[in-house]
Amino acid sequence: MADSVKAKIYFPSQNAFFQQVSARISRFSVFNSSRFAIFPGFCDVHVHFREPGFSYKETMETGSAASARGGYTAVCTMPNLNPVPDSLPHLQQQLERIREGACIHVYPYGAITVGEKGEALADLEGMASHVVGFSDDGRGVQDTQRMRQAMELAKSLGKPIVAHCEDNSLLRGGYIHAGTYAALHGHRGICSESEWGQIARDLELVRETGCSYHVCHISTKESVAIIRQAKAQGLDVTCETGPHYLVMDDSFLQEDGRFKMNPPLRDKSDREALIAGIQDGTIDMIATDHAPHSAEEKARGLEKSAFGVVGIETAFPILYTYLVKPGILTMERLVELLCTVPRQRFGIPLGEDFSIWDLDAQYKIDPDDFLSMGKASPFTGWEVQGRCMTTVCGGKPVYTYHI
Ligand SMILES: [Zn+2]
Repeated sequence: MADSVKAKIYFPSQNAFFQQVSARISRFSVFNSSRFAIFPGFCDVHVHFREPGFSYKETMETGSAASARGGYTAVCTMPNLNPVPDSLPHLQQQLERIREGACIHVYPYGAITVGEKGEALADLEGMASHVVGFSDDGRGVQDTQRMRQAMELAKSLGKPIVAHCEDNSLLRGGYIHAGTYAALHGHRGICSESEWGQIARDLELVRETGCSYHVCHISTKESVAIIRQAKAQGLDVTCETGPHYLVMDDSFLQEDGRFKMNPPLRDKSDREALIAGIQDGTIDMIATDHAPHSAEEKARGLEKSAFGVVGIETAFPILYTYLVKPGILTMERLVELLCTVPRQRFGIPLGEDFSIWDLDAQYKIDPDDFLSMGKASPFTGWEVQGRCMTTVCGGKPVYTYHI
Protein backbone atom coordinates (compact mmCIF):
# COMPACT_ATOMS: atom_id res chain seq x y z
CA MET A 1 0.00 0.00 0.00
CA ALA A 2 2.66 2.49 1.04
CA ASP A 3 4.35 2.64 -2.35
CA SER A 4 1.08 3.69 -4.02
CA VAL A 5 0.97 6.86 -1.86
CA LYS A 6 1.87 9.69 -4.21
CA ALA A 7 0.71 12.71 -2.20
CA LYS A 8 1.98 13.29 1.29
CA ILE A 9 -0.85 13.14 3.84
CA TYR A 10 -0.66 15.24 6.99
CA PHE A 11 -3.71 13.85 8.79
CA PRO A 12 -3.42 12.88 12.43
CA SER A 13 -2.92 9.11 12.08
CA GLN A 14 -5.63 8.17 14.62
CA ASN A 15 -8.27 10.01 12.57
CA ALA A 16 -10.93 7.69 11.15
CA PHE A 17 -11.18 9.63 7.93
CA PHE A 18 -7.42 9.37 7.46
CA GLN A 19 -7.79 5.60 7.41
CA GLN A 20 -10.32 5.87 4.59
CA VAL A 21 -8.18 8.34 2.65
CA SER A 22 -5.15 6.09 3.02
CA ALA A 23 -7.14 3.12 1.78
CA ARG A 24 -8.31 5.05 -1.28
CA ILE A 25 -5.14 7.02 -1.96
CA SER A 26 -4.54 5.37 -5.33
CA ARG A 27 -7.14 7.84 -6.62
CA PHE A 28 -4.44 10.47 -6.22
CA SER A 29 -1.74 8.50 -8.01
CA VAL A 30 -1.39 11.14 -10.74
CA PHE A 31 0.27 13.35 -8.12
CA ASN A 32 3.98 13.53 -7.63
CA SER A 33 4.68 12.94 -3.94
CA SER A 34 6.98 15.87 -3.21
CA ARG A 35 4.68 18.32 -4.94
CA PHE A 36 1.22 17.61 -3.57
CA ALA A 37 0.02 17.44 0.01
CA ILE A 38 -3.31 16.55 1.61
CA PHE A 39 -4.18 18.37 4.81
CA PRO A 40 -7.03 17.90 7.27
CA GLY A 41 -9.50 20.81 7.03
CA PHE A 42 -7.97 23.82 8.74
CA CYS A 43 -9.87 25.48 11.60
CA ASP A 44 -9.71 29.25 12.20
CA VAL A 45 -11.06 30.22 15.61
CA HIS A 46 -11.06 33.96 14.87
CA VAL A 47 -12.83 35.42 11.81
CA HIS A 48 -15.23 38.25 11.07
CA PHE A 49 -17.87 37.35 8.48
CA ARG A 50 -19.83 40.57 9.06
CA GLU A 51 -23.39 39.19 8.90
CA PRO A 52 -25.88 40.17 10.08
CA GLY A 53 -25.31 43.89 9.86
CA PHE A 54 -22.36 44.65 7.63
CA SER A 55 -22.94 42.80 4.35
CA TYR A 56 -21.12 45.54 2.42
CA LYS A 57 -17.85 44.32 4.03
CA GLU A 58 -18.33 40.53 3.69
CA THR A 59 -21.19 38.05 3.49
CA MET A 60 -21.55 34.51 4.79
CA GLU A 61 -21.21 33.34 1.17
CA THR A 62 -18.01 35.29 0.38
CA GLY A 63 -16.39 34.71 3.78
CA SER A 64 -16.96 30.96 3.70
CA ALA A 65 -15.89 30.70 0.02
CA ALA A 66 -12.67 32.58 0.86
CA SER A 67 -12.10 30.21 3.79
CA ALA A 68 -12.59 27.14 1.60
CA ARG A 69 -10.06 28.58 -0.84
CA GLY A 70 -7.62 28.89 2.06
CA GLY A 71 -8.04 25.20 2.98
CA TYR A 72 -10.36 25.95 5.94
CA THR A 73 -13.45 23.84 6.61
CA ALA A 74 -14.34 25.27 10.04
CA VAL A 75 -14.28 28.81 11.41
CA CYS A 76 -15.48 30.59 14.55
CA THR A 77 -17.09 33.98 13.96
CA MET A 78 -16.70 36.96 16.24
CA PRO A 79 -19.81 38.76 17.54
CA ASN A 80 -19.16 42.40 16.55
CA LEU A 81 -22.29 42.31 14.35
CA ASN A 82 -25.64 44.08 14.18
CA PRO A 83 -27.47 42.86 16.11
CA VAL A 84 -24.69 41.67 18.40
CA PRO A 85 -25.41 38.01 19.31
CA ASP A 86 -25.96 38.79 23.01
CA SER A 87 -29.28 36.91 23.39
CA LEU A 88 -30.83 33.87 21.74
CA PRO A 89 -33.16 35.91 19.43
CA HIS A 90 -30.20 38.01 18.25
CA LEU A 91 -28.00 34.95 17.81
CA GLN A 92 -30.74 33.26 15.79
CA GLN A 93 -30.45 35.93 13.08
CA GLN A 94 -26.81 34.94 12.64
CA LEU A 95 -27.56 31.22 12.78
CA GLU A 96 -30.09 31.70 9.98
CA ARG A 97 -27.51 33.47 7.80
CA ILE A 98 -25.06 30.61 8.50
CA ARG A 99 -27.65 28.00 7.46
CA GLU A 100 -28.49 29.91 4.27
CA GLY A 101 -25.06 31.02 3.16
CA ALA A 102 -22.11 29.06 4.54
CA CYS A 103 -20.37 26.41 2.44
CA ILE A 104 -18.17 25.30 5.39
CA HIS A 105 -18.81 24.78 9.11
CA VAL A 106 -19.32 28.13 10.85
CA TYR A 107 -19.45 28.23 14.65
CA PRO A 108 -20.46 31.55 16.26
CA TYR A 109 -19.26 33.06 19.53
CA GLY A 110 -21.80 34.75 21.74
CA ALA A 111 -20.99 38.16 23.21
CA ILE A 112 -19.85 38.50 26.83
CA THR A 113 -21.75 41.75 27.42
CA VAL A 114 -24.92 43.27 25.96
CA GLY A 115 -24.02 45.03 22.70
CA GLU A 116 -20.33 44.36 23.52
CA LYS A 117 -20.61 47.53 25.60
CA GLY A 118 -18.80 46.08 28.61
CA GLU A 119 -21.72 46.75 30.98
CA ALA A 120 -24.54 44.23 31.61
CA LEU A 121 -23.71 40.57 30.98
CA ALA A 122 -25.23 39.07 27.82
CA ASP A 123 -27.57 36.07 28.10
CA LEU A 124 -24.73 33.54 28.22
CA GLU A 125 -27.02 30.83 29.47
CA GLY A 126 -29.58 31.29 26.70
CA MET A 127 -26.91 31.12 23.99
CA ALA A 128 -24.61 28.47 25.48
CA SER A 129 -25.81 25.44 23.56
CA HIS A 130 -25.42 27.25 20.20
CA VAL A 131 -21.96 28.83 20.61
CA VAL A 132 -18.34 27.67 20.96
CA GLY A 133 -17.54 30.27 23.60
CA PHE A 134 -18.01 33.89 24.62
CA SER A 135 -16.08 36.92 23.40
CA ASP A 136 -16.38 40.71 23.19
CA ASP A 137 -13.79 40.70 20.39
CA GLY A 138 -12.96 44.13 19.04
CA ARG A 139 -12.64 45.50 22.56
CA GLY A 140 -11.47 44.45 25.99
CA VAL A 141 -13.82 43.97 28.95
CA GLN A 142 -12.62 46.92 31.04
CA ASP A 143 -14.46 46.19 34.28
CA THR A 144 -12.73 43.53 36.38
CA GLN A 145 -15.85 42.60 38.33
CA ARG A 146 -17.82 42.13 35.08
CA MET A 147 -15.09 39.84 33.70
CA ARG A 148 -15.05 37.85 36.96
CA GLN A 149 -18.84 37.32 36.72
CA ALA A 150 -18.53 36.32 33.05
CA MET A 151 -15.83 33.78 33.89
CA GLU A 152 -17.85 32.28 36.73
CA LEU A 153 -20.91 31.95 34.51
CA ALA A 154 -18.96 30.61 31.50
CA LYS A 155 -17.34 28.01 33.74
CA SER A 156 -20.72 26.85 35.03
CA LEU A 157 -21.88 26.53 31.39
CA GLY A 158 -18.75 24.62 30.35
CA LYS A 159 -17.70 27.22 27.75
CA PRO A 160 -14.46 29.17 27.35
CA ILE A 161 -14.02 32.94 27.61
CA VAL A 162 -12.20 34.11 24.46
CA ALA A 163 -10.64 37.44 25.27
CA HIS A 164 -9.60 40.38 23.14
CA CYS A 165 -7.27 41.98 25.68
CA GLU A 166 -6.97 45.73 25.48
CA ASP A 167 -6.85 48.28 28.29
CA ASN A 168 -8.58 51.40 26.94
CA SER A 169 -6.97 53.64 29.58
CA LEU A 170 -3.58 53.05 27.91
CA LEU A 171 -4.62 53.66 24.27
CA ARG A 172 -4.34 57.46 24.14
CA GLY A 173 -5.55 57.63 20.53
CA GLY A 174 -2.88 55.23 19.26
CA TYR A 175 -3.35 53.26 16.05
CA ILE A 176 0.03 51.60 15.30
CA HIS A 177 2.66 50.16 17.65
CA ALA A 178 4.40 52.70 19.91
CA GLY A 179 7.77 51.85 18.40
CA THR A 180 10.42 53.02 15.96
CA TYR A 181 8.14 53.58 12.96
CA ALA A 182 5.59 55.61 14.96
CA ALA A 183 8.36 57.78 16.43
CA LEU A 184 10.05 58.38 13.06
CA HIS A 185 6.85 59.21 11.19
CA GLY A 186 4.97 61.15 13.87
CA HIS A 187 2.18 58.65 14.55
CA ARG A 188 0.42 58.00 17.87
CA GLY A 189 1.41 54.63 19.22
CA ILE A 190 -0.32 51.80 21.12
CA CYS A 191 1.91 50.57 23.93
CA SER A 192 2.45 46.85 24.53
CA GLU A 193 1.10 47.07 28.08
CA SER A 194 -2.41 47.81 26.75
CA GLU A 195 -2.41 44.14 25.70
CA TRP A 196 -0.34 42.28 28.28
CA GLY A 197 -1.64 44.28 31.25
CA GLN A 198 -5.16 43.02 30.64
CA ILE A 199 -3.95 39.45 30.01
CA ALA A 200 -2.18 39.56 33.38
CA ARG A 201 -5.39 40.79 35.06
CA ASP A 202 -7.46 38.06 33.41
CA LEU A 203 -5.00 35.33 34.40
CA GLU A 204 -5.54 36.28 38.05
CA LEU A 205 -9.29 35.91 37.47
CA VAL A 206 -8.73 32.51 35.83
CA ARG A 207 -6.75 31.47 38.90
CA GLU A 208 -9.70 32.57 41.07
CA THR A 209 -12.58 31.18 39.00
CA GLY A 210 -11.07 28.12 37.25
CA CYS A 211 -12.59 29.28 33.95
CA SER A 212 -11.32 27.98 30.57
CA TYR A 213 -9.64 30.98 29.01
CA HIS A 214 -8.34 31.66 25.51
CA VAL A 215 -6.47 34.83 24.54
CA CYS A 216 -7.03 36.25 21.05
CA HIS A 217 -4.28 37.50 18.72
CA ILE A 218 -1.33 37.95 21.08
CA SER A 219 1.28 40.31 19.65
CA THR A 220 3.82 41.20 22.38
CA LYS A 221 6.79 39.42 23.94
CA GLU A 222 5.42 40.14 27.42
CA SER A 223 2.15 38.36 26.54
CA VAL A 224 4.14 35.27 25.49
CA ALA A 225 6.13 35.34 28.74
CA ILE A 226 3.15 35.67 31.10
CA ILE A 227 1.12 33.00 29.26
CA ARG A 228 4.13 30.66 29.37
CA GLN A 229 4.32 31.21 33.12
CA ALA A 230 0.56 30.71 33.62
CA LYS A 231 0.69 27.42 31.71
CA ALA A 232 3.60 26.24 33.85
CA GLN A 233 1.41 26.96 36.88
CA GLY A 234 -1.34 24.75 35.47
CA LEU A 235 -3.94 27.38 34.52
CA ASP A 236 -6.46 26.42 31.83
CA VAL A 237 -5.21 28.95 29.27
CA THR A 238 -4.59 28.81 25.54
CA CYS A 239 -3.79 31.53 23.02
CA GLU A 240 -3.51 32.34 19.35
CA THR A 241 -1.47 34.68 17.19
CA GLY A 242 -1.95 35.71 13.55
CA PRO A 243 0.22 35.02 10.49
CA HIS A 244 1.10 38.72 10.09
CA TYR A 245 2.59 38.96 13.61
CA LEU A 246 4.89 36.02 12.81
CA VAL A 247 6.34 37.25 9.52
CA MET A 248 6.12 41.05 9.82
CA ASP A 249 6.95 43.74 12.35
CA ASP A 250 6.70 47.53 12.46
CA SER A 251 9.70 47.89 10.11
CA PHE A 252 7.34 46.60 7.35
CA LEU A 253 4.84 49.45 7.87
CA GLN A 254 3.88 51.74 5.00
CA GLU A 255 1.56 54.76 4.94
CA ASP A 256 -1.34 52.58 3.85
CA GLY A 257 -4.47 51.30 5.62
CA ARG A 258 -3.69 47.71 4.63
CA PHE A 259 -1.06 47.70 7.39
CA LYS A 260 -3.53 48.74 10.09
CA MET A 261 -4.88 46.09 12.42
CA ASN A 262 -5.54 45.72 16.15
CA PRO A 263 -3.31 44.71 17.84
CA PRO A 264 -0.72 46.40 15.62
CA LEU A 265 2.46 44.99 14.08
CA ARG A 266 4.95 45.22 16.94
CA ASP A 267 8.75 45.25 17.24
CA LYS A 268 11.15 42.68 15.77
CA SER A 269 11.83 41.41 19.31
CA ASP A 270 8.09 40.74 19.73
CA ARG A 271 7.98 38.83 16.44
CA GLU A 272 10.93 36.70 17.59
CA ALA A 273 9.22 35.94 20.92
CA LEU A 274 6.02 34.91 19.08
CA ILE A 275 8.02 32.52 16.89
CA ALA A 276 9.64 31.03 20.00
CA GLY A 277 6.11 30.73 21.44
CA ILE A 278 4.77 28.70 18.50
CA GLN A 279 7.89 26.53 18.56
CA ASP A 280 7.67 25.65 22.27
CA GLY A 281 3.86 25.35 22.44
CA THR A 282 3.18 28.47 24.53
CA ILE A 283 1.13 29.67 21.56
CA ASP A 284 -1.37 26.93 20.80
CA MET A 285 -2.79 27.93 17.45
CA ILE A 286 -2.65 30.35 14.55
CA ALA A 287 -5.86 32.25 13.77
CA THR A 288 -6.13 34.82 10.99
CA ASP A 289 -8.41 37.48 12.54
CA HIS A 290 -9.77 37.78 8.97
CA ALA A 291 -11.42 41.20 9.20
CA PRO A 292 -12.71 42.54 5.87
CA HIS A 293 -13.72 46.18 5.34
CA SER A 294 -14.81 48.16 2.28
CA ALA A 295 -12.16 49.72 0.01
CA GLU A 296 -13.21 53.17 1.19
CA GLU A 297 -12.84 52.23 4.89
CA LYS A 298 -9.26 51.08 4.25
CA ALA A 299 -8.24 53.99 1.95
CA ARG A 300 -7.75 56.59 4.72
CA GLY A 301 -4.13 55.89 5.62
CA LEU A 302 -2.76 54.57 8.90
CA GLU A 303 -4.49 57.08 11.15
CA LYS A 304 -8.03 57.09 9.74
CA SER A 305 -8.56 53.64 8.18
CA ALA A 306 -10.62 50.99 9.97
CA PHE A 307 -8.67 48.41 12.01
CA GLY A 308 -8.45 44.97 10.39
CA VAL A 309 -6.97 43.09 7.44
CA VAL A 310 -8.03 40.00 5.49
CA GLY A 311 -5.96 36.86 5.75
CA ILE A 312 -7.84 33.60 5.38
CA GLU A 313 -6.85 33.03 1.74
CA THR A 314 -3.18 33.77 2.33
CA ALA A 315 -2.50 32.14 5.71
CA PHE A 316 -1.22 28.76 4.56
CA PRO A 317 0.89 30.02 1.60
CA ILE A 318 2.48 32.71 3.81
CA LEU A 319 3.20 30.34 6.72
CA TYR A 320 4.47 27.57 4.44
CA THR A 321 6.73 29.90 2.43
CA TYR A 322 8.11 32.00 5.28
CA LEU A 323 8.17 29.59 8.25
CA VAL A 324 8.15 25.98 6.99
CA LYS A 325 10.41 26.32 3.95
CA PRO A 326 13.19 28.16 5.87
CA GLY A 327 13.04 25.45 8.57
CA ILE A 328 11.55 27.60 11.37
CA LEU A 329 8.53 25.25 11.74
CA THR A 330 7.93 21.70 10.58
CA MET A 331 4.91 21.00 8.40
CA GLU A 332 3.59 18.68 11.13
CA ARG A 333 3.73 21.50 13.70
CA LEU A 334 2.01 23.88 11.27
CA VAL A 335 -0.86 21.38 10.87
CA GLU A 336 -1.19 21.22 14.67
CA LEU A 337 -1.38 25.03 14.82
CA LEU A 338 -3.91 25.34 11.96
CA CYS A 339 -6.06 22.30 12.63
CA THR A 340 -5.46 19.79 15.39
CA VAL A 341 -5.11 22.04 18.44
CA PRO A 342 -7.88 24.56 17.63
CA ARG A 343 -10.29 21.69 16.97
CA GLN A 344 -9.35 20.01 20.25
CA ARG A 345 -9.58 23.17 22.31
CA PHE A 346 -12.98 24.25 20.95
CA GLY A 347 -14.45 20.76 20.50
CA ILE A 348 -14.83 21.12 16.73
CA PRO A 349 -14.92 17.71 15.04
CA LEU A 350 -12.97 16.84 11.91
CA GLY A 351 -15.23 15.02 9.47
CA GLU A 352 -14.53 14.29 5.81
CA ASP A 353 -12.77 17.62 5.59
CA PHE A 354 -9.53 18.05 3.68
CA SER A 355 -7.70 20.16 1.13
CA ILE A 356 -5.16 19.26 -1.55
CA TRP A 357 -2.31 21.68 -2.21
CA ASP A 358 0.23 22.06 -4.99
CA LEU A 359 3.26 23.02 -2.90
CA ASP A 360 5.38 23.89 -5.96
CA ALA A 361 2.99 26.50 -7.39
CA GLN A 362 4.62 29.93 -7.16
CA TYR A 363 2.74 33.20 -7.49
CA LYS A 364 2.41 36.73 -6.13
CA ILE A 365 -0.39 37.58 -3.73
CA ASP A 366 -2.93 39.68 -5.61
CA PRO A 367 -6.04 40.88 -3.74
CA ASP A 368 -7.97 41.28 -7.03
CA ASP A 369 -7.96 37.52 -7.06
CA PHE A 370 -9.46 37.10 -3.53
CA LEU A 371 -12.89 35.54 -3.07
CA SER A 372 -13.29 37.68 0.05
CA MET A 373 -14.91 41.09 -0.47
CA GLY A 374 -12.10 42.53 1.68
CA LYS A 375 -8.99 43.38 -0.34
CA ALA A 376 -6.80 45.06 2.30
CA SER A 377 -3.87 42.65 2.78
CA PRO A 378 -0.45 43.52 4.17
CA PHE A 379 0.91 40.71 1.95
CA THR A 380 0.00 42.25 -1.43
CA GLY A 381 2.81 41.50 -3.87
CA TRP A 382 4.54 38.90 -1.66
CA GLU A 383 5.95 35.90 -3.50
CA VAL A 384 4.55 32.66 -2.09
CA GLN A 385 4.54 28.95 -2.75
CA GLY A 386 1.52 26.69 -2.25
CA ARG A 387 -1.81 26.79 -4.05
CA CYS A 388 -5.00 25.17 -2.85
CA MET A 389 -6.28 22.90 -5.65
CA THR A 390 -9.41 21.68 -3.95
CA THR A 391 -11.15 21.71 -0.57
CA VAL A 392 -13.70 19.16 0.56
CA CYS A 393 -16.00 19.78 3.52
CA GLY A 394 -18.31 17.08 4.84
CA GLY A 395 -17.46 14.95 1.80
CA LYS A 396 -18.50 17.70 -0.68
CA PRO A 397 -16.16 19.83 -2.81
CA VAL A 398 -16.43 23.47 -1.67
CA TYR A 399 -13.52 24.93 -3.64
CA THR A 400 -11.74 23.96 -6.84
CA TYR A 401 -8.93 25.89 -8.49
CA HIS A 402 -9.63 26.76 -12.10
CA ILE A 403 -6.55 27.20 -14.28
ZN1 LIG B 1 -9.68 41.25 18.53
